[in-house]
Amino acid sequence: MTDTSTGIDLHAHSTASDGTLGPAELVQAAATAGLRVVALTDHDTTAGWAAAAAARPTGLTLIRGTEISCRWYGAEPAVPLHLLGYLFDPTDRALRAELDRVRAARTVRGERTVDLLRADGIDVTWAEVLGYAAGGSVGRPHIAQALIRAGLVADTTEAFAPRWLGERYRLPKDDVDVFAAVKLVRDAGGVTVFAHPRASRRGRIVPDSLIVELAAAGLTGLEADHTDHSPAERAHVHRLAAELDLVATGSSDFHGSHKTVQLGAWTTGVEAYERLVAAASGVPPI
Ligand code: AMP
Ligand code: ZN
Ligand code: FE
Ligand code: FE
Repeated sequence: MTDTSTGIDLHAHSTASDGTLGPAELVQAAATAGLRVVALTDHDTTAGWAAAAAARPTGLTLIRGTEISCRWYGAEPAVPLHLLGYLFDPTDRALRAELDRVRAARTVRGERTVDLLRADGIDVTWAEVLGYAAGGSVGRPHIAQALIRAGLVADTTEAFAPRWLGERYRLPKDDVDVFAAVKLVRDAGGVTVFAHPRASRRGRIVPDSLIVELAAAGLTGLEADHTDHSPAERAHVHRLAAELDLVATGSSDFHGSHKTVQLGAWTTGVEAYERLVAAASGVPPI
């Protein structure tokens, strides 16, 4: 484990989901921040890939990916979790169908959340939330924007407090079974990395036994160095990755001004990066 920046940041969001920079602006910002590799990983979509690729500055490598909304059904109620998929074929029909389905589920869940807020007399509208999402995957950060606009919370972090989107107004959506997601990405030639697996501050986390099972089912890596992990959680994930021969990554999970974390705040080692790329065959890094 080292603090030395490698300039390889494998987790960032654009306006194709809940980031605030467009995909083209994101790759520009990545180059400006001194990165040499950036992964575009919008929630449940590849919609930003083409614009990011077209705007990619010379000297910056773009890894095309997504962050899949998954659920582990081995606990009751099922535990939501995020799986990063990289370098898969975006035309793969089975994977596309699942991503389309989950984006639709995001829309349903978002509108229901707004209904729940409005039923309690809170002055937010579905139209404004759709406006904040601007055609991208609708997420809770867009509902957070409406709460900020209504003067009810100061920032996104406060909007995720238990009395708001963290619990009281947190509705489940119809996510992808995590084992199915690992297989779908693999079958499309990609690799998967379990995003922020120990981020207990976001909600429930899964047991290590699930990670052991996922490793056997074809998971390639674990995101160890992440802002939502404490130093002890980071160390734990690094240990687990070493034990299971999984790739350990580090990434910012940049969301533009929806969050305070900056591009390159956490980075991935060169060897780990090369292992991920070598294991994928769907689309190349560009
Ligand atoms: P959703 O995918 O719509 O359920 O929203 C999840 C997204 O909200 C995550 O990808 C983060 O961008 C953001 N998020 C989740 N938990 C928090 C938190 N505690 N504080 C701020 N943002 C959060
Ligand atoms: Zn997000
Ligand atoms: Fe995530
Ligand atoms: Fe993310």
